[in-house]
Amino acid sequence: MPAPTYLDHAATTPMRAQAIAAMLPFFDERFANPSGSHRFARDARRAVDEARDRVAAALGVLPGEVVFTGCGTESDNAAIVGALANGGTAVCTAAEHHAVLHVVEHLDGRLVGVDGWGRVDLDDLAAALGPDVAIVSVMAVNNEVGTINDLAAVSRLVRERAPLALLHTDAVQAACWLDLRAITPLVDLMSLSAHKFGGPKGVGVLTVRDGARLAPLIMGGGQERERRSGTHNVAGIVALAEALCITDADRDRENERLGALRDRLVDGITSQLDGVLETVPRELKIAGSAHVCFSGVESEALLYLLDEAEVCASAASSCASGAMEQSHVLTAMGVDAEWAQGALRMSLGHTSSRADIDRAVDVLVDAVTTLRRAQVRRRGVGST
Ligand code: PLP
Repeated sequence: MPAPTYLDHAATTPMRAQAIAAMLPFFDERFANPSGSHRFARDARRAVDEARDRVAAALGVLPGEVVFTGCGTESDNAAIVGALANGGTAVCTAAEHHAVLHVVEHLDGRLVGVDGWGRVDLDDLAAALGPDVAIVSVMAVNNEVGTINDLAAVSRLVRERAPLALLHTDAVQAACWLDLRAITPLVDLMSLSAHKFGGPKGVGVLTVRDGARLAPLIMGGGQERERRSGTHNVAGIVALAEALCITDADRDRENERLGALRDRLVDGITSQLDGVLETVPRELKIAGSAHVCFSGVESEALLYLLDEAEVCASAASSCASGAMEQSHVLTAMGVDAEWAQGALRMSLGHTSSRADIDRAVDVLVDAVTTLRRAQVRRRGVGST
């Protein structure tokens, strides 16, 4: 079977070969539980410690500030729930991933608006802050439209208006594109997920600034210095560290290469089709994100034709149901409902090539043209 044209790296990106190689020994000869006391356990513990050191260096934090978790969703939940252990209110933007948004809503927190490009509205944020606020969560990069938030401005505001609050950022979509060492000094808590940067699914990181008061979400055997119990996923942690180091080393080069490919993709579409809205200006977003809305086209039908042609993209973020609902992100941005129903997210990553992009443009132009023609025909039939 030929490889599909994969433009859904924001959903998940293929594992780096080095990360796969790094994890394999921990499934057989180095299988031990790092919490044990014998030599095999010590070997596994050493592997986790080394991974922690590598992750800390890539993030510009202390090794003791790195907590390994079960996924990005868990990291987000642990940050919000853990910060509210002694009461207080949670605040987040209306464009957060559901791993933050649903938790804040569940805990009766406050939602802050975003502007037409998906950036947190700083006036709205200022109004939501006060002495009762225990945690503020503002994502570094939006998973649907790729918008980058100004976390330096957010951090200044939170420190001034809610000095007792912890500041969390969901940086799950940032790792491939932004230098995370520039983000960690601005926040108290930061979430990452390995499968977004070439590691395996089911392992994540929560950085917890030294001295930040955060109750554990998961209690039990006291692993991760009582901050996240549960037997370590040693293979996953080792692979996460490997993938993060490669991502960190390649980031500048990949930003340039993939930014040029993203431009080729969007320019290829807009030069051949009318009625295309580039949802967010390129200078406000990460290099690997292309989000466009087509007039007169429904995302579901478009995705069907793309899938038939083995081009993988998505309409909104991936969710377990795969349901096509209007994106809460586009709603929060105030994108017109007619545009929103023709939304398409294409996201590039480390395996993306120029051939992928050229094929995607051809397939997409054909698919949109076919759907628009069908619509004109339906209208014609309806009017007779
Ligand atoms: N936060 C953001 C911004 C995401 O894009 C995702 C995954 O789509 C998550 C959190 C959840 O991460 P995980 O899939 O590891 O639970």
